[in-house]
Amino acid sequence: VAKAVKSSRTTLKRLPEKARTDVATLHAVLDAGLIAHVGVMDHGQPIVIPVGYARAQDSILIHGSAASRLFKLLDSGSPACVTVTILDGLVLARSLFESSMNYRSAIIFGTATRISGAAELDALKVITEHLMPGRWDHARQPSPKELKATMTLSLPLTEYSVKLSEGPPGDADEDLESDAGKAIWAGHIPIYEQLGVPIPDQFVPQGTPVPDYVTHWTR
Ligand SMILES: Cc1cc2nc3c(=O)[nH]c(=O)nc-3n(C[C@H](O)[C@H](O)[C@H](O)COP(=O)(O)OP(=O)(O)OC[C@H]3O[C@@H](n4cnc5c(N)ncnc54)[C@H](O)[C@@H]3O)c2cc1C
Repeated sequence: VAKAVKSSRTTLKRLPEKARTDVATLHAVLDAGLIAHVGVMDHGQPIVIPVGYARAQDSILIHGSAASRLFKLLDSGSPACVTVTILDGLVLARSLFESSMNYRSAIIFGTATRISGAAELDALKVITEHLMPGRWDHARQPSPKELKATMTLSLPLTEYSVKLSEGPPGDADEDLESDAGKAIWAGHIPIYEQLGVPIPDQFVPQGTPVPDYVTHWTR
């Protein structure tokens, strides 16, 4: 088990009361998200690229084209910053200044390690199953050629931060007490993720039922 390190760069300075340092909350945020934004330096230029991911125990797994700039940079040992964000709501304060968003977010610092051989297939299965549980056993498995074109990487969950923002706005007393402030509606609007109805592509024979693992997928 990778040991979490406490570091100055993962210590929240802005609104530190929103920080969560326990690994269970980190895991919960990562397990709830689908997209990670991976930041690396490319010749002095910061780049941040969104990718799908999954958590496997105490690491985060990503995969992509072996020809991708991002994956080549990560494979060469570039320090990375991986951010997962889940938007939970809009916070409408009486003042625009205090208006904000509710969210769960996690930031992980580290360097990636390449996964190969049988372990790569295991990692790809974890990523596939995170995005669509049940899909691994129902779709065609990667061929040797496809595996060669794919790079699969792991980052340890050792140096991380988690920030949670929830609930109603925190308006200043003057806005809560003044007549002008009292006349303004304030609160928060939850944002939920909703899955649409699955649409088969043109090659699925007519009348083919949508598989249970697709229709039963909830988030
Ligand atoms: C959906 C969303 C919308 C946001 N909108 C705004 C906005 O409009 N304006 C704004 O100023 N801020 C916004 N934030 C908060 C923002 O992410 C930063 O936390 C904040 O701006 C402070 O940045 P900083 O560099 O001063 O953080 P510091 O507290 O100095 O950061 C120190 C360390 O704390 C950790 N950290 C900081 N922020 C986060 C985070 N969000 N999640 C996990 N770890 C974190 C990192 O490890 C970082 O290295 C938003 C956050 C989310 C998730």
